[in-house]
Amino acid sequence: MKVLVTGGAGFIGSHLSERLLDRGDEVMVLDDLSTGSMDNLQHLVGEDGFDHRIGSALDESLVTELVDDADCTVHLAAAVGVRLIIERPTHTIETNVGATDTVLKAASKSQKRVLVASTSEVYGKSTAVPFTEDDDLNLGPTTCSRWAYACSKALDEWLAFAYHREKGVPVVCVRFFNTVGPRQIGRYGMVVPNFVTQALRGQPITVYGDGEQTRCFGHVQDTVEASLRLLDSDEAVGDVFNVGSDREVTIMQLAEIVKERAKSDSEIVLVPYEQAYAEGFEDMPTRVPDVTKLERVTGFRPRTSLEQIIDDVLADLRAKGVGTP
Ligand code: UDP
Repeated sequence: MKVLVTGGAGFIGSHLSERLLDRGDEVMVLDDLSTGSMDNLQHLVGEDGFDHRIGSALDESLVTELVDDADCTVHLAAAVGVRLIIERPTHTIETNVGATDTVLKAASKSQKRVLVASTSEVYGKSTAVPFTEDDDLNLGPTTCSRWAYACSKALDEWLAFAYHREKGVPVVCVRFFNTVGPRQIGRYGMVVPNFVTQALRGQPITVYGDGEQTRCFGHVQDTVEASLRLLDSDEAVGDVFNVGSDREVTIMQLAEIVKERAKSDSEIVLVPYEQAYAEGFEDMPTRVPDVTKLERVTGFRPRTSLEQIIDDVLADLRAKGVGTP
């Protein structure tokens, strides 16, 4: 099978491309390198079955050519990361909605399967535990940039289902929960690479707010496995799935686990939200996925322990020289 991976030079995309090649598929990556990097793909360049194009998922003629040439598409290209979204809301909305529209339009001509990457952000401020796929969405006001990301991704899902119902395009939507692992960078605010970097450098570990907010962290390899099983499943077509771990930790506990695994002397400090983000920022108090549907359809649920995930991130950042003078 030949798979087009938009956003394939990104953190999740590069791991997914690697796994596809390992199992014998051909891979074509399309990436504009805005947040992704060729460093993530360098080890695949030159491998049998791997090819890449530097370009935008908004480029209609390029996307049409690549979608036509592939058997299916995994559409990951998007503006991601809370910090980026707050700093560049226009770019976020236009990229996320425009690129998904371009990919689905191309796929509708050839009736090719598309896996559309969405996010747990679409559940918004809901305090339900866990989040189930058919829960109501509870987004904040349009005056708060953070919700532009959730809204753009919710629209991507609506667009995918619209193409499915009206034009018969085989689509699968996946809502990624916090995904962590080697190659993730902290530049856009992601907490685990930030904490691990701070711990390795002996700098204060910056916990935002009171640290009582919770998240569940899944290993990128589990995210990839779940996504590929969904891509391969006829039963998954026309539906949406949570993908993530359901082990809940507070951000304060996360800081303590990182400090312990890194054997770091860093102190853990609380940073008020107003200082960490732009004014008007709203954090999500909790975020736990219900992965029952994922497990029923694919027979798989993410299970890598948080300790193992942190050890992998530590090893990756140490190998890159982080924390060595
Ligand atoms: N966070 C933190 N310190 C950091 C970066 C993030 O305490 O250096 C917090 C952030 O406020 C949020 C949680 O960690 O409550 C997860 O943040 P991230 O940006 O990784 O993901 P998301 O908010 O999308 O779950």
